[in-house]
Amino acid sequence: MKKKLLVATRNSGKVLEFSRMLSGMLFNVVSLDDLGIDLEIEETGATFKENAVLKARAYAEASGELTLADDSGLVVDALNGEPGVLSARYGGEGLDDEQRVQLVLDKMKHLPGWERTARFVAVLALAGDEVEGGLATSEGVCEGAIMHQPLGENGFGYDPVFWLAWHAKTTAQLSGAEKDEISHRGAALRGLTDTLNGLT
Ligand code: IMP
Repeated sequence: MKKKLLVATRNSGKVLEFSRMLSGMLFNVVSLDDLGIDLEIEETGATFKENAVLKARAYAEASGELTLADDSGLVVDALNGEPGVLSARYGGEGLDDEQRVQLVLDKMKHLPGWERTARFVAVLALAGDEVEGGLATSEGVCEGAIMHQPLGENGFGYDPVFWLAWHAKTTAQLSGAEKDEISHRGAALRGLTDTLNGLT
């Protein structure tokens, strides 16, 4: 029987990416909804790693299953690292993804291309009794720049304004498979491949 792996996020964009990237592995991937877990964890950490660990440990304890959690976000140099760990809540809880993207664009509207550098960062945390020491973490980074206006329909969050010079596309213009190859989440997951394979 395949081992269960709880992917502990309610972000549908992330669920899609994790399901796609984990599909080649010998896990039965389940979501918080599949397990009927309605626990909400407050992201009180000051770093992506603190928040990822917080979520992975709490959901592993609540579910009793091997649990993978991620904390990720957009880090813009000209905004002193903002939105950072607040990426999902930037500008307040009342905004939707489109309005958050607009807020970033407004704050940067006078900046020329060379001052628009940014990166997506993801830290994954894998928690469970079967993991050595109970916990493994991995960080992935994807370097890019912020557009002047949104472009592309794929992905989620800040993807329509995240420009990849190498591809001459935003991450919202990439296919799912293309994004997995270069994304912060893809890189972080590859860092956990050996650990995950050792658990199947
Ligand atoms: P959290 O990890 O649940 O705190 O949320 C991370 C937030 O960062 C998301 O809600 C998005 O706004 C943003 N984010 C993280 N990864 C990506 C990505 O791959 N594309 C676009 N936005 C992202």
